[in-house]
Amino acid sequence: MRIVRVALDIPLSTLFDYLLAENMTVVEGQRVVVPFGRKHIVGVVIAITQHSEVAAERIKEVVQILHDVLPLPAETLKLLQFCSDYYHHPIGMTVLSALPTRLRGSEPVKLKQALTYTLSASGCALNPAEWPKRKAVQLRVLTALQQGRQSAAQLKTISSTAPAALKQLIADGWVEASASVAASGNFTFNEEHQLSAEQQTAVDVVNRITGYHTFLLHGVTGSGKTEVYVHLLQQVLQRGGQVLLLIPEINLTPQLENYFRSRFPDTELVSLHSGLNEGERTQNWLLAQSGRARIILGTRLAVFTPLPQLALIIVDEEHDASFKQQDGLRYSARDVAIFRANQRGVPIVLGSATPSLESYYNARNGRYTLLKLSERASQQAQLPSVRCLNISNAILPQGISSGVLAALDERLQRGEQSLVFINRRGYAPVLMCSACGWLSGCPNCAGKMVLHLKDRRMRCHHCGHQTKVPHACPSCGNVDLQPVGIGTQRIETALQAHFPEARILRVDRDSTRNKGTWNAMRKQIQDEAVDILVGTQMLAKGHDFHNLTLVCVLNPDSALYSRDFRASEKLFAQLAQVAGRAGRGNKPGEVLIQTSFPEHPVFNALRTHDYDAWAATLLAEREQAGFPPFVFQVLLRAEGKLEAEVYDFMQQARNEAVGLAMQVEIYGVVPAALPRRANHIRIQLLVQSDTRKNLQQFLRVWRPMLDAMPAKKLRWSLDIDPQEL
Ligand code: ADP
Ligand code: ZN
Ligand code: ZN
Repeated sequence: MRIVRVALDIPLSTLFDYLLAENMTVVEGQRVVVPFGRKHIVGVVIAITQHSEVAAERIKEVVQILHDVLPLPAETLKLLQFCSDYYHHPIGMTVLSALPTRLRGSEPVKLKQALTYTLSASGCALNPAEWPKRKAVQLRVLTALQQGRQSAAQLKTISSTAPAALKQLIADGWVEASASVAASGNFTFNEEHQLSAEQQTAVDVVNRITGYHTFLLHGVTGSGKTEVYVHLLQQVLQRGGQVLLLIPEINLTPQLENYFRSRFPDTELVSLHSGLNEGERTQNWLLAQSGRARIILGTRLAVFTPLPQLALIIVDEEHDASFKQQDGLRYSARDVAIFRANQRGVPIVLGSATPSLESYYNARNGRYTLLKLSERASQQAQLPSVRCLNISNAILPQGISSGVLAALDERLQRGEQSLVFINRRGYAPVLMCSACGWLSGCPNCAGKMVLHLKDRRMRCHHCGHQTKVPHACPSCGNVDLQPVGIGTQRIETALQAHFPEARILRVDRDSTRNKGTWNAMRKQIQDEAVDILVGTQMLAKGHDFHNLTLVCVLNPDSALYSRDFRASEKLFAQLAQVAGRAGRGNKPGEVLIQTSFPEHPVFNALRTHDYDAWAATLLAEREQAGFPPFVFQVLLRAEGKLEAEVYDFMQQARNEAVGLAMQVEIYGVVPAALPRRANHIRIQLLVQSDTRKNLQQFLRVWRPMLDAMPAKKLRWSLDIDPQEL
């Protein structure tokens, strides 16, 4: 009797046993179709054995073995097992969530023959004057091909209609398709910059290591971390290896993709992120798994991709909160990447201008090696000067001080770009009645309805509830309703009224909702068709706009009152990032921060660009208070419609924890930061310990107790190493 133990997408912490028919052969990591309840579903074989705990007459047979793609390698299965254990998430759900959606189904998928394109002999002979007159996209495709061989994916970044243009050009005989691509170890590298001494040292130090080691590349904004990555990539590619490069945001991928493609034009590069359609994502995953793709550029979900030749992992902007998944398997892609590098025995580089305190602490205590880039890479570019504008006594009806207006005016006169940063979309965060003090609360949440004046709606950013803007106060009938506070739309409107001639562009989640809009906007900014950018944190990261010389931060103060102990760490990182957008070209940059607390240490640290001193202060505070990175935490969250039931569950969970008398510290049951969302009461319980080991030991006993507790009408989850409290 041959039994396979199968991981299924079922919320139970167990594998499922199935019988293998006589004629079936299967290996671990292969996908199989099995009966479950009344359905047939796809699972992954984790083990093959002779015995089962399940009674023989109850074991069902495997229906089908899927041979369309290679099985998951043992290494990937081990990585997923580790994640399931560490994050206390069911093994089956962990394994299945690591697969692209197509592979969770039984429809066969196939790695398509990837073609690349070059100019044909007649295409080469053609001089640009004879190029087809009508189609702009055709011209851009031809221009791109003049630079050399391009893949379909590369050409598609030109325009969404590039595939059609390409087809026409092939039909007309100007372009030829052929199977790809550079053989490993033999590739083109476009060297663009002579590395600075600091960059060269960083590259050399990492290159000396071939086994596992974690490096923290701490480089100020604009110091050329990307260039360090490029040179590390070059070394790895030369040895025939694959590189996994993790980045936080989807909206940065097209930019970085183009950047790396331009430097390694004939190396197969794929991106993996949730912005791809299912077909593209599956193809890219298969290219990575087959070893054909050499550079894998992805957001957090890419960390699980099987990579047979993996030789280096890079995590860019390692401090970024988006590396932590906030539902399902609540993993930190950075931490999983470190585990993976260790498992595989390869180096990993964590890069940031504002490292997380966890990583910085590890670099300080010698577990990681610290590499520093202390100056901007380009000779002319200097770090911006940072100044606080004290607004504690000012009345700012539109939220913009005269100092900011004057600075913007100066940039307009000089034909330079400015960025006005405000982390709130919409027009105003709340509407208020000036007679009775009524506030536009959401009926379903503890939060407020945000005024969106552009489409005349009130919207809750927590649950999505919307209404029309009320004409009169629902409480007293007064018609004088006042928007309170500022959002991007209000700032855009106010600035447009003040500078009627200026070309103002608002960039936030509302204005970039449609696919492709953000790309078009970025081009507009690059082409200097914009004078003033008004935007949220979408604009803070990674962008390199050379004519941008002024950054104004309008309302950072609310973060100073937050109850989250990480709030000031995050504020510093965010402001340092956004400040880092200024003065990246050859003109000096300036940063103005409107605040009522100009003497606050966080602003001092920004003024002096002294991350080390700031981090030392924070670490001392954390150690004193007993917070991470000096302790390890788990957060139990629960939510449900019935307040009593949610509290009963939590209280019982707490009692069980206390009863265990293990080496953990157990806090009280408290409401979540948003105590009610979409009509659900939300509460939480924090448990922490001095060591990871003690915390994990505790969780191994506590978790089954939670599973056994009645929880019919509520949802609960465990968040290990939570990033938001
Ligand atoms: P970071 O990621 O550290 O913020 P980037 O990698 O975006 O910095 O580099 C900032 C700018 O400096 C880019 O325009 C890049 O082309 C340029 N640059 C990088 N390295 C060098 C170098 N060695 N010499 C000159 N310019 C460089
Ligand atoms: Zn009223
Ligand atoms: Zn709501």
